[in-house]
Amino acid sequence: MLSAEQIKQTLIDRQVLLDGHFLLTSGKHSRFYFEKFRILQYPDDTSRFCNVIAEHFRDAGVQTVVGPTTGGIIIACETARLMGVKAIYAERTPEGRGFLRGMSLSPREKVLVVDDVMTTGGSVIETIDAVKHAGADLRGVAVFIDRSAKKPEFGAPFLGLYSEKVETYDPHDCPLCKQGIPLAKHGSNPKP
Ligand SMILES: [Zn+2]
Repeated sequence: MLSAEQIKQTLIDRQVLLDGHFLLTSGKHSRFYFEKFRILQYPDDTSRFCNVIAEHFRDAGVQTVVGPTTGGIIIACETARLMGVKAIYAERTPEGRGFLRGMSLSPREKVLVVDDVMTTGGSVIETIDAVKHAGADLRGVAVFIDRSAKKPEFGAPFLGLYSEKVETYDPHDCPLCKQGIPLAKHGSNPKP
């Protein structure tokens, strides 16, 4: 199984973890940027990351792995395959996230929620809401990259494979600007 050091090295090798000077969609500047789909491009690397999650929650009695669109679908599918269980996908609906296309959870079904990157926990929290709304039993939450400054309280065990706190700067008071490091534009991905 991958060590914490191997996880970080994979993120660097695949150019997921970018260290530089980035303009985010919020208008703030940041030293780090995560191009998360660059790991999902490589099924073998994705599978090795999912295996860390599958092994961590091996004894949690998980019956179904749930992931939100878009990256969470890939991670839920592969993690469920490794655990020998079912996967379903939480999509955006006018009433928050929900299960469409004939997919559903049963009351008390034991669920593991997974996603690619967590910053404020938005899509993870919306997915947990959908799980709880179905009356299912949340047994754990796991993400590839945890950027949260303050961990949301999920009421279930949490696993982040790699953690790097978000540190953003106002453009008028950015230490990287002051050092004259060229600014790269990132973070303009469409919302799934
Ligand atoms: Zn700057």
